[in-house]
Amino acid sequence: MRERLVVIGGDAAGMSAASQARRLKDPDELEIVAFERGHHASYSACGIPYWVAGDVDDPEQLVARTPEEHRARHIDLRTRTEVTEIDVAGGRVRSRRLPDGQEVWTGFDKLVVATGARPVRPPLPGIDAPGVHGVQTLDDGQALLDTLRGTKGRQAVVVGAGYIGVEMAEALLRRDYEVTLLNRAPEPMTTLDPDMGRLVHEAVTGLGIRMVNEAEVTEIRTDEQGRARAVVTSDAEYPADVVVLGIGVRPESELAEAAGLPVGDFGGILTDQAMRVRGQSAIWAGGDCVEVLDLVAGRQRHIPLGTHANKQGQVIGTNVGGGYATFPGVVGTAVSKVCDLEIARTGLLEAEAREAGFQFVTATVEATSRAGYFPGAASMTVKMLAERRTGRLLGTQIVGREGAGKRVDVAAVALTAGMTVEQMTALDLGYAPPFSPVWDPVLVAARKATQAVRAHGAG
Ligand SMILES: Cc1cc2nc3c(=O)[nH]c(=O)nc-3n(C[C@H](O)[C@H](O)[C@H](O)COP(=O)(O)OP(=O)(O)OC[C@H]3O[C@@H](n4cnc5c(N)ncnc54)[C@H](O)[C@@H]3O)c2cc1C
Repeated sequence: MRERLVVIGGDAAGMSAASQARRLKDPDELEIVAFERGHHASYSACGIPYWVAGDVDDPEQLVARTPEEHRARHIDLRTRTEVTEIDVAGGRVRSRRLPDGQEVWTGFDKLVVATGARPVRPPLPGIDAPGVHGVQTLDDGQALLDTLRGTKGRQAVVVGAGYIGVEMAEALLRRDYEVTLLNRAPEPMTTLDPDMGRLVHEAVTGLGIRMVNEAEVTEIRTDEQGRARAVVTSDAEYPADVVVLGIGVRPESELAEAAGLPVGDFGGILTDQAMRVRGQSAIWAGGDCVEVLDLVAGRQRHIPLGTHANKQGQVIGTNVGGGYATFPGVVGTAVSKVCDLEIARTGLLEAEAREAGFQFVTATVEATSRAGYFPGAASMTVKMLAERRTGRLLGTQIVGREGAGKRVDVAAVALTAGMTVEQMTALDLGYAPPFSPVWDPVLVAARKATQAVRAHGAG
């Protein structure tokens, strides 16, 4: 009998799941209906800062597969259609077509919830004024570009100095805006320890971005036409012709929660390793709307990243299509950049390691990306955390110029394999002067961390 798979959410997780299920099951075995609230499907939100910066001219380049291409593959993708209710017991979802408000119920044999995340928008005066922009979707990116094109003033304020805020600050700087970056924490990039965040602070300031830490935004001040004109903090007021918000996201899980599906402490849907919603036999969830297992801390967390969403979607599609796949968890790897400064982390920060109950040592080294004599050798700082008793690697952070960021992948593999920092020092990494010094910066850090473990009496 032909079954029907319903997918809610038409981006990374949802359409990866739908596409993989379609690869495994023919249309006469499995009908696939996908609902997407927006105009686009399978788009790369990750590319928005580079589109705004001008590296990418056309938003179509950020679309991996258009709605028409999905439909040609026998996926009935219904854009501009929002799912408003999941009836778990009845095996059906209610959807509303946004252009005309028409509502229908659609039955399912299998359901995938891939509703993503919702940007945090604190209820401040002026937060919804024209000129204030989020950057979550391609429509958001287009609205921001329209504002930039229609504004003569050159003052931009970015609220939030996580990776999205920092990437957007660069994008606006490259469009010749005077950029102020407001940050609530003591240093930018709270995905790093403050001593590593300090390096980002210095680099960002060196680029000409005004970086203000410990800034608590209280209001977006508007003019007589209601347009944003300034961002007010508890200490100061920053003139703004455009305001960009990058203050984090929360799982978009209300629909699932209202249907009685389980959510965790961070508000993300809870699944097993096959990405099946806990307690359900025919409902899966993946992407920014779920919590993941942090394999280092051994806890559930919410880590909204496209890299996870795509992999989880693939796992879901395989299981829905009759195969077997699992997503065992993550080690917390992320990489980003601001101009030529590369910023990367994997595993736990000091505060996270402490919270997870680890006793640990740290080691920080300065090293170069190539042999010191080789043209273009650039400096980087590598910080490593290792468990004090066992020497097991707990985390690595890297801040530096070209060639720094993706070095974190070596540490991510070591974390996944449960290696000690001493074992890492013997890793057979490639070497030639244009690529690294004889001792790669990651190995130099591992060696120093090994010394710190020994000094603290491992074993
Ligand atoms: C500016 C920016 C830069 C980023 N850069 C990176 C990066 O460099 N690396 C990285 O790994 N990640 C990055 N990310 C994160 C990445 O984009 C997300 O993790 C990824 O898009 C999550 O995919 P998803 O399918 O779970 O959710 P989403 O991409 O949010 O898709 C969910 C979709 O579901 C739809 N939807 C929600 N509710 C409903 C409903 N009730 N009915 C119908 N449709 C619904 C939404 O409209 C949305 O299109 C970035 C994000 C942003 C915003």
